Amino acid sequence: MLQLIKQVVGNVKSLLSYFFIAFVISGCSEQKQQSNNISEPSNFQAVYDDISIDNLKKHIKYLSSDEMAGREPASKGDRLTADYLIKHLKSLGIKPGNGDSYLQKVDLLAINSSVSQNLKIADIEFDFPNNYVANTRQKETIRSIENSELVFVGYGISAPEYNWDDYAGLDVAGKTVVILVNDPGYATGNPELFAGKTMTYYGRWTYKYEEAARQGAKAAIIIHETEPASYGWSVIKNGWTSTQYHLPRTSNSSPVVDVEMWINVEKTQELFNKAGLDFSVEKAKAQLAGFKAVDLGLKASVEITSTFKQSGSNNIVATLKGTEATDEHIIYMAHVDHLGQDKTLEGDQIYNGAHDNASGMAGLLEIARAYASLNKKPRRSITFVGAAAEEQGTLGSKYFADNPTMPLSKIVGLINMDSLNIVGRKKDISVKGHGKSELEEVLATAAEKQNRKLTPEPHPERGYYYRSDHFSLAIKGVPALSVGGGSISLNPEEAEIAERIGARVAKCYHQLCDEYAEDWGWHGAKEDLQLYFNTGYILSTNNQWPNWYEGTEFRLLRDKMMSSEK
Ligand SMILES: [Zn+2]
Repeated sequence: MLQLIKQVVGNVKSLLSYFFIAFVISGCSEQKQQSNNISEPSNFQAVYDDISIDNLKKHIKYLSSDEMAGREPASKGDRLTADYLIKHLKSLGIKPGNGDSYLQKVDLLAINSSVSQNLKIADIEFDFPNNYVANTRQKETIRSIENSELVFVGYGISAPEYNWDDYAGLDVAGKTVVILVNDPGYATGNPELFAGKTMTYYGRWTYKYEEAARQGAKAAIIIHETEPASYGWSVIKNGWTSTQYHLPRTSNSSPVVDVEMWINVEKTQELFNKAGLDFSVEKAKAQLAGFKAVDLGLKASVEITSTFKQSGSNNIVATLKGTEATDEHIIYMAHVDHLGQDKTLEGDQIYNGAHDNASGMAGLLEIARAYASLNKKPRRSITFVGAAAEEQGTLGSKYFADNPTMPLSKIVGLINMDSLNIVGRKKDISVKGHGKSELEEVLATAAEKQNRKLTPEPHPERGYYYRSDHFSLAIKGVPALSVGGGSISLNPEEAEIAERIGARVAKCYHQLCDEYAEDWGWHGAKEDLQLYFNTGYILSTNNQWPNWYEGTEFRLLRDKMMSSEK
């Protein structure tokens, strides 16, 4: 978001401006150099033009066919999908990316939890799952807290780069922390706080539990409020009462609290009243720098009983080796799974997932074909990853990030394709988490070729950047892009497509009607794929290492990773 860039530039004025300008200039000259360079593949333009709508249609039709039965992880459709991707990558001469295998096994653990002893705090009446939900990520039949002290930790954020620590001087070992969702920047709209209205990772609910665990808390309760969460209680209720998939925990896994909970805002008000406090007053205090956690003087008990089932899927990994810097990789990623089947539903019961994400896989194959068709291969390697079990919590990409097939410090950047733009050609290109990394400058250079400008996603406060596979790598420090489509249609004809298909996309997200249709805005998908191809291509021919912008969440991690490399 512009606001963020302004803030960032303001914070570290001369230094950052210098790098920023130097980067843009070198990026531009690089581009010019390429177009005049006799060593550039003579067929680059032909390959770029040849990204094929017919091929996209063919791939999507097959990958979203009923035969795939919704591509549920560990199902027959999941295996058929992997076979199809590998067959095509192989035929393009793209080699296995995980040693001598195209597959990287991903073990999955399904946990079915139910509340066996209702949540108890003072004499407040809790009703599962209508005003609270509770789960565990631990493979333990019984998990419980008993008379665990409640501490209100505000936004529950420990962020050195924003000079913010809600846990400062606090010992929450064995306690239950109560946490607000989103971040103080969002809550106040103050652009000087965090990233203003744009949600940072510190605002995501996943972060809240992670930080609580790092701090040694036994359990964590997130307060649900519709606006800062960006969805209603029904999403929590549905999402938290179904089977939860996880990667099996190992000695390397990050810590988790015993019990993760959400409570709704009415129960929160009651809880604060019991503690002799006014929730809105305490919330306002939590939005100020120097906030001090509040001991609520109340105790919580709850017990969860779980059953487990183990299964497995695979990431698909394939690499086109570079000509010089073979150990440096540009990664293209697209998830291979979808929601499978639901026998309790009317209709054909199959979540075909044509848009989400047969389209992304088709894009992956077309970009792979483009690179394979260049008559001079890039100097850096290009790796294609089909990520498993994205819909279950980006599990395949998390596994890949924990067990990468190359050092993370050797990944130059990543482009994720989760549902291609099928709503027609655009004058702009929408960037999720706009203002995060210098990869956006490379993207902007590639977008110039299409006369398109970068624009922030329409709802930066919703934190979409944190909701798909690229984020599994970003949180480890690897710069990663999630972009696509735009908000300004190229012409009235494309605007008509945007209106018609846009309504369908919104209606059919994660529904049975996400099916292949001939009338999609195919030229939008093609143009976006050309953009992804060119962005990766620019990176693959130069020797730059685009970083996160100074002051953003993952910059310190990347700096540390790269300096320990030297
Ligand atoms: Zn998806």
